[in-house]
Amino acid sequence: MRPFKDTIPLQQAIEIVLQAAVPIERRERVRIGDASGRVVASAVHASDDVPPFDRAMMDGYAVIAGGTAGGSQAGPARLRVVQTIYTGQIPQRAVGPGECAEIATGAPMPAGADAVVMVEDTARDGDEVLILKAVNARQNVGSRGADLAAGQAVLQPGDVLTPSRLGALAATGAGDVEVYARPAVAIVSTGNEIVEPGRPLGPGQIYDINRYTLAAIASAHGGDPIVLPAAADALDDLTAVADRAADADLAVFSGGSSVGDRDLTLDVLRACGEVLFHGVAVKPGKPTAFGRLRGTPVLGMPGNPTSCLSNAYVLLIPLLRRIARLPDFQPRVLRLPLARRITSTPGRHQIYTVRLAGGAAHPAFKSSGDITSMSQADGYIEIPDGGAVEEGERVEVTLF
Ligand code: AMP
Ligand code: MG
Repeated sequence: MRPFKDTIPLQQAIEIVLQAAVPIERRERVRIGDASGRVVASAVHASDDVPPFDRAMMDGYAVIAGGTAGGSQAGPARLRVVQTIYTGQIPQRAVGPGECAEIATGAPMPAGADAVVMVEDTARDGDEVLILKAVNARQNVGSRGADLAAGQAVLQPGDVLTPSRLGALAATGAGDVEVYARPAVAIVSTGNEIVEPGRPLGPGQIYDINRYTLAAIASAHGGDPIVLPAAADALDDLTAVADRAADADLAVFSGGSSVGDRDLTLDVLRACGEVLFHGVAVKPGKPTAFGRLRGTPVLGMPGNPTSCLSNAYVLLIPLLRRIARLPDFQPRVLRLPLARRITSTPGRHQIYTVRLAGGAAHPAFKSSGDITSMSQADGYIEIPDGGAVEEGERVEVTLF
């Protein structure tokens, strides 16, 4: 055993991790249908006006506004219907004085007409129509270029492609878009006892939990998880896997980050790269290491599934999002009374999982080895250094 000499505060660990984050430079073109959630790498401008033509905003009649003046229920204007224009059609002729065109929402305005009377304000009489309400020029007409003028910026570098921004991109007719690559996140589980789910367990073995929790976090926060084969607790095996992991933009190891004789993550980091910290004053998750291998940031997470996932929330997510050029994560936070008193460990910032029920936050933490400490919780509260939280006290619950 090689006990921890000292630990650093969680906030300092977060700062060190963020300082080591290099925003990704790799770019790729993706089809618009695959671009949801991606980060725009180069500005997009409208190549044409959107909409590309003046169009009706209502079903009704395209008219010369001046010709409807004074039109009312009592004294309607009477116009001759000279054509019908559906969407996707080109008007066959212009509208002249005393005339109008029946028109569908979205159809191009005919020359001569400058307003649309909605069908509800008309009464049809054979090939004529009574206009029961006057309209002003441009009323119910969507002008060419009103949404976007040709040349106007639609997207800027760094914009995240939300549904509405994808819509704006689609409006320009772009079939693809240049985005930043999703950072490759190498995920390595370590431990002689680790077995992939779907296979039978031998004596002393357990199923690999961390590769799935970590991969899910990586995918959800802009990363592209690359799951490498689990490494045995042997220096040569771990070194070989670490070498592959260093090809990624970020590597996350789980297990072997503590102080036992077979906890070798730190030895590999020391031998092949550099260690930036080892040991964080947080519970769970104290035996966490961070360093670099060939310039690639490496998080060495504890093997205990709740410690591993808990630190993924507080360290991996901020780091990955910074590399992926995503804005800082804004988890949802609720303020609720605590259902029963809890105390935390002196000297450690505690991440305490809670379940929401009946308008209160119920402590749900079992042990850092139990994944159900998190899977049966809805979020967590943070208890700074050795404090206690009383029953009924309002706490801030960060939702998962
Ligand atoms: P370690 O951090 O390697 O000392 O592991 C601490 C505990 O977590 C041990 O009980 C391990 O068996 C367990 N553990 C390590 N890696 C995993 C994993 N990938 N999935 C589930 N449990 C694990
Ligand atoms: Mg281990």
